[in-house]
Amino acid sequence: LSKRAHNFSAGPACLPESVMRTAAAEFCDYGGSGIGMMELSHRDAGGPVQNAMSQAAEDLRSLLSIPDAYHVLFMQGGAHGQFAAVPLNLLGDKKQADYLNTGFWSQRAMKEAARYCDVRLAYDGTVDNFTKLPSASTWDISPDSAYVHVCANETIHGVELLEDPVLPAGSPPLVADFTSTLLSRPVDVSKYGLIYASGGKNLGPAGFTVVIVRDDLLDRASPLCPSVLSYKLSAESKPVPSLYNTPPTYLIYMCGLVLQDLKDLGGLRAVQKRVRRRSDQIYSLIEASNSFYTLKNVDKPVRSMMNIPFRVKDGLVDGLEEAFCRESEASGIYQLFCHPLFPGLRVTLYNGVPDEAVNALYRFMVKFMADHV
Ligand code: PMP
Repeated sequence: LSKRAHNFSAGPACLPESVMRTAAAEFCDYGGSGIGMMELSHRDAGGPVQNAMSQAAEDLRSLLSIPDAYHVLFMQGGAHGQFAAVPLNLLGDKKQADYLNTGFWSQRAMKEAARYCDVRLAYDGTVDNFTKLPSASTWDISPDSAYVHVCANETIHGVELLEDPVLPAGSPPLVADFTSTLLSRPVDVSKYGLIYASGGKNLGPAGFTVVIVRDDLLDRASPLCPSVLSYKLSAESKPVPSLYNTPPTYLIYMCGLVLQDLKDLGGLRAVQKRVRRRSDQIYSLIEASNSFYTLKNVDKPVRSMMNIPFRVKDGLVDGLEEAFCRESEASGIYQLFCHPLFPGLRVTLYNGVPDEAVNALYRFMVKFMADHV
C-alpha cells in the first residue's frame, strides 16, 4: 500500500491499515490454497468460509461478552433491510411498536416500520430539535407494543446512547440500531432483545449486517417475512448460522480481520478509552475556539463520540466551509463534509481512523482558525 490519506468518511469508512494489508496479502491466495477467499464456497462443510464465519461470530461474542441465549447472525440488506426485518420478525400478534425519534436514522426506521405496523412515539425529538436522548425512565412505553426501537448513535445529528438503558420490568424488548457505534464501547447485550448494525463503519466494509438476537424472539415472525430477512432461518441454518442464502463471504472475512485487530488492541475497554480521548480532543478544540467552530446544542451526556457535526462560524460566512474542505484536502485530510441533506461539516472518529489522522486534523483545524478568524 502506498501512503494512506487521513480519511474521516462517515461510511463506508476508513479501515485499520493492518486489516487492509492482511486482506491485500491474502487477496488471491487464502491460506496457501491458491484460491482467494471470495472464490471459495460457503457450502464446504468445515471449510475456510464456514471457519471464517464461525470465528468472526465467536470473536464478536467474546469482544461484546454476548450471553449464550443470543444468536449472532451475518445478514444482508444493511440497516435499511433491518428497518423492515425488525417488524417483520418481531411483531408476533401485536399491531404496534414504540420508536424513539432522535434524528434522521430513527425516522428512516420509523418510516419503514410504518408499512407493517402502527408506529408509536416513545419520545419525540422534534420538540428538542434533536439535541436530547432522555433517560429510559421517561420513555413513553406501551405494554401493547411488540418492541421499543432506539437508534444508539444518530450519525448525522450526533446524538449517542452512551449507557445501556434499563427499561421498567415487563416492558417490550428493546431493539437498537447500533450501526455507527457498535464496537466503540462495551455493551451490556442483556439489556437488549436485538441489536443490529450494518457494515461500513466500525465493523468492516459495507455490504453485510450483524444481527444479535435473543433466542426467545425467533418465533414471532410474520408468515410474510421474506426468507432472506428471517432471523429464524438464518439462526437455524446448518452446519453454521447465516448460511440460508449465500452470505457476503468476503465481507464477513474482512469483519473477522477487524475483530481480530480489536482483540489485539486489548478489547473494547481499551477501545472506549481511545474513543473518549479522541472525541474529547476534538470537542475541546471546538469549544475553545471562541465560536469560530460551533456545535449543535446536544446535551453533553449524549453527545456522540463517533460523529461530531459542526459548523464554521455557524455557516454564516459564504464559502468558508467549502474553503475548510478544500484546504483540508490540500493537507491530505478527506471526507469531512456532512450528509448531502444537512449542511455543515462532521468529524467521524470510527475505530479505523488512526491517532495520527486525528492529530493531523487537530493541527489543521487550529491553523485554519488562525488563518480565517
Ligand atoms: N442507521 C444508522 C445509524 C446509520 O448511520 C446508517 C448509515 N449511515 C444506516 C442506519 C443505514 O445503513 P445502510 O445504508 O447500511 O442501510
